[in-house]
Amino acid sequence: MRWLRFYLGFHGYEAAAAAVREEDVPAAKVLRERLREAFDATSEEDAVSTLNAVLVEHADPPRLERTSDGWRFRYGPAEAAGRFGRCRAHPCRCVFVDRSRNRSRRYCCELCADRATQAAARRRRAKS
Ligand SMILES: [Zn+2]
Repeated sequence: MRWLRFYLGFHGYEAAAAAVREEDVPAAKVLRERLREAFDATSEEDAVSTLNAVLVEHADPPRLERTSDGWRFRYGPAEAAGRFGRCRAHPCRCVFVDRSRNRSRRYCCELCADRATQAAARRRRAKS
């Protein structure tokens, strides 16, 4: 689990890194292997085919949304109310908009995520 947290944090996805759970690791390993298949492909067509299959499974489809000029395709996360969250790092009660693709954000900021991670580590050490 540490490698996945490190990888996500290294690439700037701090909220996702803080939200990683042990049960996320097998899916991440499967995704990693599929991406390696694309990079190891012997032809561009095979690589694109592999990447397109991954995108079909993991990417949000584009949506039509009304603008002042009519309709346009929107790519990326929707700003639905379901994306609103409240920080889970006690005693913080801040709110946030979860812009993560998998709606995994749990903390309002990196400081709270770090504080919660440190508190969990202290609890684990205290148990052992
Ligand atoms: Zn917070």
